[in-house]
Amino acid sequence: MSLAQALPFPDTGLGQARHDWTRAEVRALFALPFSDLMFRAASVHRQNFDPTEVQISTLLSIKTGGCPEDCAYCPQSAQYDTGVKAEKLMEVEKVLAEARAAKASGASRFCMGAAWRSPKERDLETVCAMVEGVKALGMETCLTLGMLTGDQALRLKQSGLDYYNHNLDTAPEFYGSIITTRCYQDRLDTLEHVRAAGINVCSGGIVGMGEGLEGRVGMIATLASLPEHPQSVPINMLVQVEGTPLANAAKLDPLDFVRTIAVARICMPASVVRLSAGREDMSEETQALCFLAGANSIFYGPKLLTTPNPGRDHDMVLLDKLGLRAMER
Ligand code: SF4
Repeated sequence: MSLAQALPFPDTGLGQARHDWTRAEVRALFALPFSDLMFRAASVHRQNFDPTEVQISTLLSIKTGGCPEDCAYCPQSAQYDTGVKAEKLMEVEKVLAEARAAKASGASRFCMGAAWRSPKERDLETVCAMVEGVKALGMETCLTLGMLTGDQALRLKQSGLDYYNHNLDTAPEFYGSIITTRCYQDRLDTLEHVRAAGINVCSGGIVGMGEGLEGRVGMIATLASLPEHPQSVPINMLVQVEGTPLANAAKLDPLDFVRTIAVARICMPASVVRLSAGREDMSEETQALCFLAGANSIFYGPKLLTTPNPGRDHDMVLLDKLGLRAMER
C-alpha cells in the first residue's frame, strides 16, 4: 500500500468543498510523494475549472508607501528604510487611464492597492469613485486598503466592488513574528465584514518568511476552515527587499512553493488560486509546475505595487508555450 493510500484522512472527495480541514489532514497532504500530490491537485483542478484557462489581473498601487504598519516583508512600511517614497492617493482620472491600458492588454480584473492601516473617510469617497469608473469600463474590481469596518465594506459594495483583498499572511502562531501592529483577529474581523457585505473575498498568504512547514500547514488549514472559502487565494513567494527585516530570509525551495499551491488547490477546490508575488525570480519550469498544481490566476504587468513582476511580453510567451489562455470574465 502506498503512503497516499495509507493516509489517515478521508479522501478530499476530489472537488467537494469542505470547511473542516484539520491540521493533521493538511500536513498529510504536504507529506505526500510529490507525484501523488500533483496528481490529486490536478484532478481537483480539472473537476472545477478548465485547466487551460488562467485568470489575469493587473495590480496598481493607488497610494504608495508611508504605511504605519510594520509587516516585516513590506517595503511600503514607514518603519523600514527601503527607498520607497510616500506618495498621495492618485487622482481618479489617472487610475482610470491605467485601467483602460490594463484592459487593452488583456486584464479582466483591475486591482487597486493602498498602503494604509485602514482607509480614512474622505479617501474612501475617492476610492468609491475609482471603483465606479473601473466597473464602467466593464472590468472586475478589487481593492486592498487595509482593515475595514462593516460600514466601510457596505459602502464599497454599494459602489460596485467585486473583490476585497486582505491576506491572512501566515499561520496564526507565526503571525506575531511578522506583524506586531495588528493582530490575527483583526484580519479575521475584516474578512467577516467583507463577506457580510456580499463582496467576494481574496485572501491568501506569503511563504518563504521562515514560517517552516508547520506555518504553511497552519496558513492553508486556516484559510480552508473559514466559513466560506475565499473566492480568490493568492499564494505569494516572499520577495526579499533590502531594508526590510526579511531581506536575508532563507530562500524557500521552489518545490515547497509548488506543494503549497497544490495543497491550497485541494483544500479550496472551487477557489481561484493565484500564483502571485515572486514570479520574477521563478523559473518557467517552476511556474509550469504551479499551473499543473492548480494555480489558475496571475498578476500581469511589470510591477506588483513596488516590486518587479515579469513583463507582459514575457508572460504571453510563457502562457503560449504552455498552451494556456486568458480566462474570460
Ligand atoms: S503590507 Fe500593507 S499594511 Fe503591511 S506595511 Fe505593507 S502596505 Fe502597510
